[in-house]
Amino acid sequence: MAATCPECDNLLDIDEDEVEEGETVTCDECGTELEIIATEPLQLAVVDADVYDDEDDSVRHDSDDEDED
Ligand SMILES: [Zn+2]
Repeated sequence: MAATCPECDNLLDIDEDEVEEGETVTCDECGTELEIIATEPLQLAVVDADVYDDEDDSVRHDSDDEDED
């Protein structure tokens, strides 16, 4: 059956017999990772993988030119 991406409304052709709850699929339109939270009826939820990406936390100033030797 077809489900729509909650992010971009792209039509995703997902066979509910081929997927299981907890599986993730990726929207080929916007690249959003979607978790299958139910198969009857098919329900998708956005996986917020980016939330756990603490890239902003690791700010390092390697180019700091202080001579504290
Ligand atoms: Zn999408």
